[in-house]
Amino acid sequence: MTGHYAAALKKLAPRLSLASSDVQLKPCPLCGIREVHLIRVSDFFGEGDAFYVSCTTCEPRQFPGNRDDSVRDWNQRQIIDLWEVLNASR
Ligand SMILES: [Zn+2]
Repeated sequence: MTGHYAAALKKLAPRLSLASSDVQLKPCPLCGIREVHLIRVSDFFGEGDAFYVSCTTCEPRQFPGNRDDSVRDWNQRQIIDLWEVLNASR
């Protein structure tokens, strides 16, 4: 785990909470586990609540966004890696 990654995660962690999805979430595309959750990020970069789907085994991989878009992207396996984006911008 890189320093940037740890710092970003620590900064984000207090603002994470479980959210519910009306749509059934597909298993994780990376590890195949079925235990996946929709996570709410409150006040994501000052732009209100954002959502991402994460499995309970992998690190959070999806870039937070609109709830419906996040669920759709997850189920369509179109995942943009949050941590790659955060680390690339440093
Ligand atoms: Zn996974």
